[in-house]
Amino acid sequence: MTASTRSGNSTSINGATAAFADAGSSVNIELDGVTKKYQGQERPAVEDFTMSVSPGELVMFVGPSGCGKTTTMKMINRIIEPTSGSIRIADQDVLSLEPNELRRHIGYVIQQIGLFPHLTIFDNIATVPKLLGWSRSRIAERVDELLRLVDLDPGVFARRYPKELSGGQQQRVGVARALAADPPVMLMDEPFGATDPITRDGLQAEFLRIQEGIGKTIVFVTHDFDEAIKLGDRIAVLSDRSQIEQFDTPANILAAPANDYVQSFIGKGTALKRLALIGLSHVELAGVSASTSALEVDERDSLRDALDMLVRSGASSVRVTRGGRVVGAIDFDTISTLLDADARKIPSREQGAP
Ligand code: ATP
Repeated sequence: MTASTRSGNSTSINGATAAFADAGSSVNIELDGVTKKYQGQERPAVEDFTMSVSPGELVMFVGPSGCGKTTTMKMINRIIEPTSGSIRIADQDVLSLEPNELRRHIGYVIQQIGLFPHLTIFDNIATVPKLLGWSRSRIAERVDELLRLVDLDPGVFARRYPKELSGGQQQRVGVARALAADPPVMLMDEPFGATDPITRDGLQAEFLRIQEGIGKTIVFVTHDFDEAIKLGDRIAVLSDRSQIEQFDTPANILAAPANDYVQSFIGKGTALKRLALIGLSHVELAGVSASTSALEVDERDSLRDALDMLVRSGASSVRVTRGGRVVGAIDFDTISTLLDADARKIPSREQGAP
């Protein structure tokens, strides 16, 4: 690669252009023996992280304060550099890429939102497209589309300033801004951390809906294990020793925690958390009998929803519906058999369960 090359409208000066810029969702991220030791620190902030994030995968980093989650994110987009080890995006070493060029192709959402207070919502979202030299009409179209995607009416919000929005609305704008130039990679550092539980639930559901449509490769940091199992295809559980204790699917971590540390991180209610991962559409249903309650659950609901309905009904089974039509029944025995089954045979969200 020459010293000055062009990718779209952006110029790379000291490194290769980001070949993954237009790669859609086919981008993987590889961390190989990544260690970061800040100057003056006794122990590394990140120690020997090795992991692969597959194209289109949503990987959650979960762990206690100070275990190196943010440091790892900042090494992926080169805000800081590793002391040793390598990070590759779409098989390109990030250290070979010009930092600003790299960052333009990685969406970054942080807890403090980081919206520019003196810019309107429109201009906040338009920041990277402007840097990439998009035409005014293309930018206007994209801002409009993104505001609708995050459920904010462009006619109402585009001309407002950040301080005129609620915290949850600002978070949505943060997500829209990170998506603006359609980056193949997203880094999300506790994006919903500062919101109340109800707003957070809504943002999580909306985020899953958006991700279903766009399928980006995402690394998402959270303190909250329940958020990790709700959103993640896989979860990396980090310890206070700044090491990866387990990296696996939510279903496998819940069923077979690698050690006491992971077990303590999962906390109480493991069985219910596992049931929440299993969609009724993946379960062999029983027939409706005279003792089946008239209460119903939709087959898009989880086994946890079914258990909740069973307990409320007081009956031994409840009806399961598809599009309003009864397709069978679910009972306590089926639920407890599924919980006893080998976790690796249990259908999980990444295999298509809701
Ligand atoms: P939190 O959940 O509280 O945000 P975290 O897991 O994201 O924490 P990091 O911010 O990555 O943790 O910090 C990891 C360790 O590195 C901490 O001990 C922190 O004090 C230290 N650290 C972070 N940034 C620097 C820095 N610029 N200089 C020195 N030490 C730092």
